[in-house]
Parts: sequence; structure tokens; C-alpha cells
Amino acid sequence: MRGGGSGFVGRELMCLLKNKGHEVTVISRQPGPGKITWDELELNGLPHCEGVINLAGENLMNPLRWWNEGYKKDLFSSRINTTKSLAQAIAGSPSPPCSWVLVTGVACYKPSLTAEYSEDSKWTPFDLLSKLVKEWEASALLQENMAKTTRQFIIRPGVVLGRDGGAMKQMLLPFWLGLGGTLGSGRQPFPWIHISDLAGIIAHALEHPGDVASSSPQVFNGVAPVLNTNYEFTKELGRIMRRPTILPVPGFFVKALMGSERAMVLTQGQKVIPKRTQESGYHYKYPDLTSALIEIVGD
Ligand code: NDP
Repeated sequence: MRGGGSGFVGRELMCLLKNKGHEVTVISRQPGPGKITWDELELNGLPHCEGVINLAGENLMNPLRWWNEGYKKDLFSSRINTTKSLAQAIAGSPSPPCSWVLVTGVACYKPSLTAEYSEDSKWTPFDLLSKLVKEWEASALLQENMAKTTRQFIIRPGVVLGRDGGAMKQMLLPFWLGLGGTLGSGRQPFPWIHISDLAGIIAHALEHPGDVASSSPQVFNGVAPVLNTNYEFTKELGRIMRRPTILPVPGFFVKALMGSERAMVLTQGQKVIPKRTQESGYHYKYPDLTSALIEIVGD
């Protein structure tokens, strides 16, 4: 049962879960085959299922939307309202699912050139996007009495790399035209994950809910196990695409184009370590940038 299952990550996860023999229902704003709508969820409650995942939310990098108050409000309400609806539906279900997985983001960790963050790192909100993560994750929490029936997971992905959506889809044309370049200084960390691995980590959480009943969610950082900078990413993408990457994109230009709070996602970054993800026994298919980028743009 997945909210936002029609999106970039949702489509990849759908393929993986179906290949593993699971039946999947998408919760969407639009009705359709294999889907229920959010209104139907509210009206009829949660259909019987083993796991629930929320991937729904207004796209943060929507190039068609100007960075203004209305857009910021939609970023919050689309995530928090859908997450609350699912948490309430789980709590009200006569047969609650074994797993409840919320996918948020690494924006909770303060950008830094030096600090390293694992899932154990303490953090407090410091800007708009970190406040969003705080409220979003809080809205997923189930009551303590649900701990024995439903394991809660929060997965915090970095930039998700895949051919059919997300940041790569917007980057491929400029890189192909030889206009790709580092963003800002290029020294900022670039936490990333291949889309297959993000889907893999979500499926891993669903299929291995674990024995320890806890009212706090298990957090997994959804990033590759290597640390890269924006410069390393840019140079490797250019090398694999056989295109020059000599034109840096100045930070002020990215800010003017995207709005300063949104531009931070690209011009600043965090060193994020997937400590608990690895301890959980998840094996990465694309643990390094070269293998990930060859899979995405190699041919
Ligand atoms: P997409 O934008 O591709 O898809 C999200 C889905 O959310 C859409 O298919 C849509 O489903 C639903 N949705 C969109 N707008 C709204 C809205 N206003 N109200 C309710 N639902 C809405 O996202 P991704 O698959 O790329 O990302 C999934 C989640 O992971 C998101 O929450 C995102 O913030 C997070 N994430 C993504 C990263 C990335 O690099 N892609 C990085 C870090 C975190 P429908 O039309 O069927 O209703």
C-alpha cells in the first residue's frame, strides 16, 4: 500500500515489489486501476495489507513552480497531510500492517564541509526544509500501544539518481550539451543514492521488520556508503558521458533561479553516513559513483 506510488521512486519500488511477488496498491490523488484515492482511504480505512509506505509530496525541484509562500505551503501540506492520513488509517485498522515506512530526506542535517552525520546524530531544525522534515517525521508517529504490531521506519534519502526522474532527468540535457558544471564552489558534499538502492532499502525494511518492538521509528539514511563532493559527481558524470564540465554554475545564479532556500539543496550539502542501513544487512547494488552513473548514462 503506497502513497505517492506513481512518482519517480514509487515506480521503481513498484517494479521491485512486484518482481518479489508482492501485490501493490497505490494511493493517489487520481483514481485508476490498482489505485485508491486519499478520499477513499479516509472514507473506507486501510485495506488489509502487510506494509504501508509514504512517498507522496509536491515535488521540491518542480521547475514549473516559482519559490513562493504558496509553493512552500504545498510542500508541507502534501507531505504532512498524507502522512497523517496514513498513520491514522494504520491506527484505526482492525489488522494493522507489520511495517510503516516513511521516506523523508537528509535536509534535517545541517550542511557542513566537515561534520559527518549518521542516523544516531542529534539534530534540531535550523531552516525551512529541516523544519519540514521534523514536522513530517512527527506526523508519522504511532501511539506506543502500536509498537508490537507495526514496526515504524524512516528512510532519509540523499539526491536520488536514476534515468527517469529526479535531479538526473533535469541534468542530462545540459551535460549532454557540454554545459554541465559544478554548482557553487563544488566543494560541498553531495549525498546521493542510486534509485535501485533506495527501492532496495525500502523493500529491505518492509521484508525485515525485525523482532524489537519499539515505539520510536528505526531510521535509515538512504545514501550510498561513499562520500562524494559536487565536484567529484560533476567530473565523473562528464567523464562517463564524454562531455566537458568546465563551466561552473555560480551559487548566486542557482539562488536567483530557484530561490535561496531551495538552492541550498544543490549549493550546500551534508556528509551523510548510512551506518544503520549497513548494520541492518542491506547490500548495495551501486555502492560507488562510477557504477551508479555507468548504469544510468553508460550507454
Ligand atoms: P515525485 O515528485 O516523483 O512523486 C511524488 C508523488 O507524490 C507523485 O507521484 C504524486 O502522486 C504525489 N504528489 C505530488 N504532489 C502532491 C500533492 N500536492 N499532494 C499529494 N500528493 C502529491 O517524488 P519522488 O518519487 O522523487 O520522491 C518521493 C519522496 O521522496 C518525496 O517525498 C520526496 O520529497 C522524497 N525524496 C526524494 C528525493 C529525490 O531525489 N527524488 C530525495 C530525497 C527525498 P499522485 O499524482 O499519484 O497523487
